Amino acid sequence: MVQYFLPAGMRYSTLEERKLFYTENFDLEKVAQWFEVLTSKTKFAVIIGRHTKIYPKKYKADSSTTIVIDEYTNLEDVKQQIIEFLPEAVYYDRNVYDSNDRKVGQELAFDLDPENITCPIHGTLADKTKRAQGLSFCELELEMVRQEAAKLYRFLSNRFSEVRAVYSGRGFHLHVLDNRAYRFSEEERQFLAASVKEEGFHIDDWVTSGEMRLIRLPYSLNGLVSRIVLPLKKEELEIFDPIHDQRTLPKFLTKVTS
Ligand SMILES: [Zn+2]
Repeated sequence: MVQYFLPAGMRYSTLEERKLFYTENFDLEKVAQWFEVLTSKTKFAVIIGRHTKIYPKKYKADSSTTIVIDEYTNLEDVKQQIIEFLPEAVYYDRNVYDSNDRKVGQELAFDLDPENITCPIHGTLADKTKRAQGLSFCELELEMVRQEAAKLYRFLSNRFSEVRAVYSGRGFHLHVLDNRAYRFSEEERQFLAASVKEEGFHIDDWVTSGEMRLIRLPYSLNGLVSRIVLPLKKEELEIFDPIHDQRTLPKFLTKVTS
């Protein structure tokens, strides 16, 4: 399998690096802060090696499936389960469930990815897909998607009071935490997604409409690019440099080797 083309310094993490990150650098306090209310019903999920084809041998059969982690005692327990799987990606489920495991709402989110940006050098997503580089992106696309995320943040701030931005390692996520947004119907979500696209934003419909309920866990490792998933304040998003910002660099990349 051909490795994706990625900005300088971005590359797949090895199993050893994933292990090092989750045992030594994964910041559970910050994860807990992200979930102001972590109910026992919050579900997590991992994908071990769907894109990277890097996985522990014993999980070969499940390397491309989405494995849900919904039985755990606390975040430390979740972390231990992540260390068992050593996944390329960790997610949480935006759905909110009641005590009978029925879905009662969903966190509203927007996903902006660089491959959806039409690049002056690499062309449209269709062009990239034709060359089997559908998940590739360049620094220029990353900067363009950052500008779009900042603009979408301003757009959403006019309509909602609790908007949060997250750098996903590839693109950006915007989460809306207003109570009323959790209760939006499917139709309201689809309408909102359509109006945001009409404004020229390149969002992933699946995430906003709610069909894709999983979203990358903040402070986890994006193993496709070796970057830490990082929440950003509005001011930070305006000037953020995803390639060089030290906070997104896992320690295994910054260790000096001689
Ligand atoms: Zn490009």
